[in-house]
Amino acid sequence: MSEERIYLDNAATTQVSPEVLSAMVPCFSNIYGNPSSVHGFGRDAKMMLDIAREKVANAIGAKKTEIYFTGGGSESDNWAIKGTAIANAGKGRHIITSAIEHHAVLHACAALEKQGYSVTYLPVDKEGFVDPEDVKKAIRPDTILVTIMMANNEIGTIEPVEEIGKICREAGVYFHTDAVQAVGNMHIDVAKMNIDMLSLSAHKFHGPKGVGALYIRNGVKIANLIDGGAQERSKRAGTENLPSIVGLGKAIEVATRDIDTKIAYESALRDKLLTRIVNEIPETRINGPLKNRLPGNANVCIKYIEGEGMLLMLDMQGIAASSGSACTSGSLDPSHVLLAIGLDHETAHGSLRLSLSSLNTEEEIDKTVDVLKASVERLRSMSPLYNKAK
Ligand SMILES: *Cc1c(COP(=O)(O)O)cnc(C)c1O
Repeated sequence: MSEERIYLDNAATTQVSPEVLSAMVPCFSNIYGNPSSVHGFGRDAKMMLDIAREKVANAIGAKKTEIYFTGGGSESDNWAIKGTAIANAGKGRHIITSAIEHHAVLHACAALEKQGYSVTYLPVDKEGFVDPEDVKKAIRPDTILVTIMMANNEIGTIEPVEEIGKICREAGVYFHTDAVQAVGNMHIDVAKMNIDMLSLSAHKFHGPKGVGALYIRNGVKIANLIDGGAQERSKRAGTENLPSIVGLGKAIEVATRDIDTKIAYESALRDKLLTRIVNEIPETRINGPLKNRLPGNANVCIKYIEGEGMLLMLDMQGIAASSGSACTSGSLDPSHVLLAIGLDHETAHGSLRLSLSSLNTEEEIDKTVDVLKASVERLRSMSPLYNKAK
């Protein structure tokens, strides 16, 4: 990788940290036993598995017996939603979610609608916040699950999950939260936040891809998605992906230690980035809130410019960004999140997401703004839309 490249797409995925990688390496060589085996090789692997589970539990205030390893954030979301829907169909078939969830949640809900479940998609305000009162009003006698994300991957909005959780707890309805973007970027306590199920994914906090976890509070009724052996307390079958699970454990430990320092560092960089963009580039606007926002998330509208054109131009100069969400690149549909906060199609198309990690530096931020400024000027000078407006 060239030294000069600048990676500002950490909401899509992050670099595996050297510390995480070295924790994983022994699991590719001498620790190769199957954790279910009774012999010493198996016991060594089982011990690594237990340590990783403990690290995940500690990071979110859960018990070790409430952590189940999965194949990533999408699997955790699907399991929480479809698993509770199946296990609680006798009580009801109504689910509440928001309009700005990740596709892993939205499409899992859509799949259930095809099976005869009904889903309420709550609107959000201009900054992407769900109103807890709306959740309260939407709960019906047949509601079995509320699933609202902890923090949004496109515009960084941190949702009032503690209040939403309280409402659900009082109503006797399960509350699941997609915390994939939140882990390592804010304090999480599943007990204090009244959370019944929580999804997380290692590759969003400098761990490996294809591994995640679902926290399931003891006592929650949930069906299996993957049947087979007795792994994961008979709830998620399949020989454990030990190297990745060990990587997840190390990554979450690193991501949550000194978290306040990291939050302060990233927020300062992000604020500098946003301030410089809106002050130095005319007709730009911040998407998402100024308060209760993920420390590493910046998202801006750049009027009269196509986000995709902007991305290509930045990429040519070694800067990696995103025009919304990774899932929407390649399609012409504007982001459902930007539409839900009230942007029109044209403005949504001109938006740019820059997502930071603690590995980014102030020099990188300054260089990015300089490059962005020049690129916007260039693209606007070629834009018929812009010339017409002027
Ligand atoms: C990345 C992401 C997911 C999906 O996680 P994978 O591990 O990539 O399957 C789900 N929800 C949110 C909010 C995400 O950012």
